[in-house]
Amino acid sequence: MNSAFDQCSLYLIPGQHDYKTKEFSHFIHKLWDIGFISQKIDTQSTDNRYLTGSRFLDHIAYMGCSPAIQFVPNKDDENFCHVNIHQYDSARLIVSKKQSRAPHCPSCKKPVKNWNENKTSTSILCDQCHTHSSIGEFNWRKMAGYALLFIEITDIFPKEAMPQQILLDKLADITGVEWVYFYSCR
Ligand SMILES: [Zn+2]
Repeated sequence: MNSAFDQCSLYLIPGQHDYKTKEFSHFIHKLWDIGFISQKIDTQSTDNRYLTGSRFLDHIAYMGCSPAIQFVPNKDDENFCHVNIHQYDSARLIVSKKQSRAPHCPSCKKPVKNWNENKTSTSILCDQCHTHSSIGEFNWRKMAGYALLFIEITDIFPKEAMPQQILLDKLADITGVEWVYFYSCR
């Protein structure tokens, strides 16, 4: 049975939407080094899904009385907390299907409800002030992100857990750019 919790993830992305790791395997190795991830879930697969590492809970803080977090798969159960790393050739927008919010225009700061109708692959026309701005410049209010590189932590409901500053600092050290986060539900 699916619950809403099964469908949501926390994502970490570089603040610079055109940032790409020069050496992907080196990046993975660094995430392993800081104890954020451990072994690859399916070594035969070309995807980049990893079990959480021994220091995962130093890096991600669960709010309030957190439910029992499942870090290992049950048989037949794909819904457990793990880390999925995506890197694409061109920047993409991951936007929450549920609890989505109208992004705020960088120019007039107003919410743009019709953004999806006025969007190209790289920019959005604001229907309030009639300015074109890059998708990455819009304020997605933590319910969408535009990037080449995404660290997805699955099975986290919006605001159920947050990245600790120490993780954002370590990611900045590893990559030389600032990192931000958002939530998305399928
Ligand atoms: Zn505007």
